[in-house]
Parts: sequence; structure tokens; C-alpha cells
Amino acid sequence: MAYPQYLIVLAVTAGLDLFFSTFSILHMLLLEQWTNYLYFTKKVLKRRSSIGKMTSTRRALLDNFGDLACTLVAPMFTLSRHLVPAIQRRGLYNGAIDYTFHPVHVALSVIGIYLCFDVWYYIVHRMLHENPFLYRTVHKVHHEDVPVHVFITFKGKYIENILAASPGLTLWVIATLRLAGPNFWALLLPALTLIMEFNTAHSGFLDHPLLYAMSPLQYVVKALPTARPIAEEHEVHHLRVKKNYAPVFSFLDRLGGTHAPADLGKFATADVIENMHDDAKQGVKKEE
Ligand SMILES: [Zn+2]
Ligand SMILES: [Zn+2]
Repeated sequence: MAYPQYLIVLAVTAGLDLFFSTFSILHMLLLEQWTNYLYFTKKVLKRRSSIGKMTSTRRALLDNFGDLACTLVAPMFTLSRHLVPAIQRRGLYNGAIDYTFHPVHVALSVIGIYLCFDVWYYIVHRMLHENPFLYRTVHKVHHEDVPVHVFITFKGKYIENILAASPGLTLWVIATLRLAGPNFWALLLPALTLIMEFNTAHSGFLDHPLLYAMSPLQYVVKALPTARPIAEEHEVHHLRVKKNYAPVFSFLDRLGGTHAPADLGKFATADVIENMHDDAKQGVKKEE
């Protein structure tokens, strides 16, 4: 029995959506373990003092899943609408999808997804902060937790993520299909990389090349001009809400006068913090 094409498009959209959202959650769990390991082996730094209560726990994983799934509906639907008719005509392995790995196409596509995402996100994110009504009713939820933590990455109202992230991602899907054709790697790897970048933005650690070890394509973007140390500068956004609106590049914030670098003196490794605690204990003893 042949199913109507629109049903197949919807099923493929749901399948892709499920795949990327599940990937994001698994990466969050791995990143939590990895950053903790790096921190306790003194390889990465974390904010010295606590700056607020931490409300996000692993229970928030399901919320993250739902938020990302909503964000991805439009770009995945755009992709499925293009791929399904081609697969029906030619078959999955007969030219409907190109499986050759072109490093240059993949690198350009990674840069493309970051740029499409960042430019659109900057505009909407700034609007969500500068309009008090929109901030109060839509974006405030994402700012409830300071310090940031990987489990708050996609925390927010569904409408916020759809407005701020879906259009840029959809534009990237259309541009990639036009310029590189339906190339498997040029479509898959940039999407996975951006998801991992966003998780890294909320990891709560000072940037270090080892933070990106699970996602080698992040190094391609970090080599570009004005690529920001995403973890520390996005934490500044959560601390000083009207700064650092663009997650990935700083040029938009520099042009718009909203750029603020992190105060690196406020970060330390676990051993420094441990010593600080010892000094504090000594201080208490002396006073007694
Ligand atoms: Zn954030
Ligand atoms: Zn914000």
C-alpha cells in the first residue's frame, strides 16, 4: 500500500527531529562528565565563587528534549520535503543522497550554519531582551539559572526557541541544498556540531580546547575571526543580561555595542578552590 507523500514527509521530519534531539541529550550527559573530569584534573577553570542558586538538574533533560524538538521542526520539515520525493524517485542509495565526504564542503557548511544561526539569533535575542514585555513573558525563563549549567541549554519557552533559532537553521538547510546538493556529511555534521556548540555555551567553564574534544569541527569555527570563547562569554550574557547576544561570533555584539568579555580572574581550578577553602578554615581557627 502506498502512503500519501505528505505522511512520509511528516514521518521523516519526526524521525530526524527525534534523532537530533536525542543526540543533544546524550551529548549533554557526556559533556557534564567530561567537563567535571577536566575540572578535577586541573585542566579547565570554573567560576571561583557561587553566584546564585542552581535549579537545573537532570530532570530538566526532558524539557531540553522538547524544546530542541520544537526548534527543529521547521528545518527538518524543509529537509524532508526536499529529500523524500528524491528518494522515492531514485532510491536511498542511487543518487538521491550523495554520500561522498568533501572536507571543503563540510567546512563551508559548518561556517554557513554558524553564520545563518548567529545573525538571526542576535536580532531576535536582542529584541527579547530590549522589549520588557517580551523579556518578562518569553525569555526570562532561560535566565533563571546563574551560574549556567549544561542542562539549561535549551531551557525556555517553545515560542522563544522557534522564533530565535528555527529561521536561521531553515535558511541554512535551503542554502546547503542549493550549493552542495543533498550531501549527507555537509548536512549532518554541521547540525551535530552546532548542537554541541550550544551545549558547550552553557557548560559553565572557562573555554579551553579540550572542551571541544568531542566535536572536532568546532575547532574549524574557533579558528575564524571574532569566534568567541563561547562558554565564558555566554555566561557573561547570563550575568549581565544585556550583553553578548550572539552565541558564536562577537562581531555582531561589537558592531551593536553589546560586547563584554569575561573577567578571567574570577575563574579557578578545583585545587585552587580547595586551597581557598583550607585558607578560609585556617582563618576561622585563628579567630577562635
Ligand atoms: Zn543561555
Ligand atoms: Zn538572553
